[in-house]
Amino acid sequence: MEKKLQTSMPLMCPSCGNIMKKRLDKKMWAIHGKCLDCVVKMESKMRANGTYEAYEQEMMEKNMIAYLQDKEQEATEYIAGLDKISFLQNSNGDIETWDIDPKQIEEVKLKYMEHLKEVREHLKKIKGKK
Ligand SMILES: [Zn+2]
Repeated sequence: MEKKLQTSMPLMCPSCGNIMKKRLDKKMWAIHGKCLDCVVKMESKMRANGTYEAYEQEMMEKNMIAYLQDKEQEATEYIAGLDKISFLQNSNGDIETWDIDPKQIEEVKLKYMEHLKEVREHLKKIKGKK
């Protein structure tokens, strides 16, 4: 199950009711939906009852997923940009003025699509474990 990141932070932590004003509160809110104090308490409780490792693992996976999703978007945008180049070439008709070999663009595109496929497979693997 995926939980969307909350973007707007309330004034008070929904978990303990304290006012969230620390810099790290904002970060913790984005990740956990509660204030830093609550996260610290939660983590020390988990350390005590031995569930911290699984939690840490999950956090690492979440970071990894965020990273891979970034990469996915990057590659998608890059490919879209390449498509634009060849589109301009075709509609202009004067390919001579372009210093780019369409075959070269195609090669780069294929490389990025391969990269995108790998990223997506990686994502699927991480998400599929749950
Ligand atoms: Zn709190």
